[in-house]
Amino acid sequence: MTAHIIDGKAFAANVRERVKGHVTRMVEEHGLRPGLAVVLVGEDPASQVYVRNKGKQTAECGMASFEHKLPADTDEATLLALVNQLNEDATVHGILVQLPLPKHLNSDLVINTIAPEKDVDGFHVVNVGRLGAGLKSMVPCTPLGSLMMLKDYHGDLSGKNAVIIGRSNIVGKPMAQLLLGANATPTIAHSRTANLEDVVRAADIVVAAVGRPEMVTGDWIKPGATVIDVGINRVPAPEKGEGKHKIVGDVHFESAVKVAGAITPVPGGVGPMTIACLLANTVTAASRAAGLPEPSDLTV
Ligand code: NDP
Repeated sequence: MTAHIIDGKAFAANVRERVKGHVTRMVEEHGLRPGLAVVLVGEDPASQVYVRNKGKQTAECGMASFEHKLPADTDEATLLALVNQLNEDATVHGILVQLPLPKHLNSDLVINTIAPEKDVDGFHVVNVGRLGAGLKSMVPCTPLGSLMMLKDYHGDLSGKNAVIIGRSNIVGKPMAQLLLGANATPTIAHSRTANLEDVVRAADIVVAAVGRPEMVTGDWIKPGATVIDVGINRVPAPEKGEGKHKIVGDVHFESAVKVAGAITPVPGGVGPMTIACLLANTVTAASRAAGLPEPSDLTV
């Protein structure tokens, strides 16, 4: 048996097309162009790549893209002043502060200064609380993209046992909330979980968000289960040449694909969905700000 491969790249392209359609209509019918502001502090190479991709895809969907690049030694007051200025700016519907911030800056304070309705990353405590309470919120992009793929593949998730490995605020915990909201039965596992392999083996749905290359192997997976691999790990790839690297997930794909019913690859699974969902959240935020109906095909 070989698992169905859930093609996140194609799914993300489809989400971006939907986003583009909504943006076109909002501009034509309401003179409203959704805008996303991305703030980057410092010169972390990975963050620079993410920010460039976000800006490019934002513009390709017809949205306004605002990039604010600040030097690594920017002080807190300057950064907070910029966030407040973006909060007040009516052409900005979504604000994203690229993490991680340099160590001298208080990430929690910065994130919680973003107006909750513009917090398209869904990290503000108000959005965390609203998601937990089952209220309308901004949903973090990686779990949102993961749930979209799960719902697309399964339809109804009622009655499914789901195990999420990882309890971070940006992936594990919101993923559990979303699965609960979708009537699955989520378990959150972490580094202190006893008999992790057995816990995972009981799951119909496995979401791996650990940050450990290829930790979850095929013998942990219940035959036929659906595996969502959130991990992005850069590891040496001597087979590609000296000093070369490759990206692998938290799941050992070659063994898991033989047991699972469906699986997301890395790269080309959850990763592309994350930026697509950021664009989707910006359209949702702009619709809410203008009192327009929310695009139901851009959320879960
Ligand atoms: P964190 O480091 O914040 O959290 C990792 C979690 O995994 C923690 O809860 C930790 O447990 C748990 N963990 C670590 N080791 C083990 C172990 N041996 N057994 C069981 N659990 C363990 O990571 P993130 O949630 O930020 O990211 C997870 C992965 O997802 C990373 O590879 C990251 O690169 C990737 N990622 C991908 C995104 C995408 O767009 N596709 C977006 C965000 C992240 P404990 O709490 O006990 O320490």
